[in-house]
Amino acid sequence: MEPLPDLDLAPGQAETLARHLTLRLARDLGPEEAFRFLPALLRALTGEAPEPFALRLRREVVRAARRLADLGLMAGTAGNLSVRESSSHVLITPAGLRKGEMRPDDLVRLDMQGHREPSALRPSSEFRMHLGVYSSRPDVGAVVHTHPPHATAFAAAGIPLDRPVLAEAVLLLAPKVPVVPFGPPSSQQLVDHLQPWLAGHNAFLLANHGVLCLGRDLAEAVHRTETLEFLARVILSARALGGESLLTHAHLRALDDLKTSGGSACRP
Ligand SMILES: [Zn+2]
Repeated sequence: MEPLPDLDLAPGQAETLARHLTLRLARDLGPEEAFRFLPALLRALTGEAPEPFALRLRREVVRAARRLADLGLMAGTAGNLSVRESSSHVLITPAGLRKGEMRPDDLVRLDMQGHREPSALRPSSEFRMHLGVYSSRPDVGAVVHTHPPHATAFAAAGIPLDRPVLAEAVLLLAPKVPVVPFGPPSSQQLVDHLQPWLAGHNAFLLANHGVLCLGRDLAEAVHRTETLEFLARVILSARALGGESLLTHAHLRALDDLKTSGGSACRP
């Protein structure tokens, strides 16, 4: 694409135009999508080469990790994220680093057997769990493991989130969020315990540990993580008020229809 000719703009006019463009995108697409598209749009307008796919993926992981850390879902250095880069490789967060402080270059590229390039950082110790998901679920493009305090309380108590309480949670986390029996973090035992639950579920409580959410892409896996923690918080509060009331069969049928028609609850 040819770059646009230089425009003779008054002082401050470029900033005003950029602000209008950003607000318009945020109104049409929602703030998160606008934030995602704006760099590509600006590159297209200035005629710069598009960002390579792998670099874009790395930036998305860094941004998602920062968001989850800011929400308090990955205390200290806990938690790990990965995305499928191709049919043969994934990008995963490194071991040890605070995930909110990562840079795109820190992500580790692994093949499906867990081999990394010699110069790369050490991958998250949970890499076996991530690779186990990708090899069993070809539809999954991203895996997010966090320690959200309220959902982890349910995992610690061994209580699955299997009751229809919130519409958004039913749509995103259906049919239920099971408790996967305990296996030590990073162990093959944890991967083995997860395996039987993988078909048909996209969110899991890892007993006495944390949670795991899958998505077709990173945005979906992060959205599931946030929804799962919100659901856990609401149920705990509702129980303090005398207990949650459940959605009826008729409500669930209506939600099914909404899902089939491609609608999404509570989104602009
Ligand atoms: Zn963990």
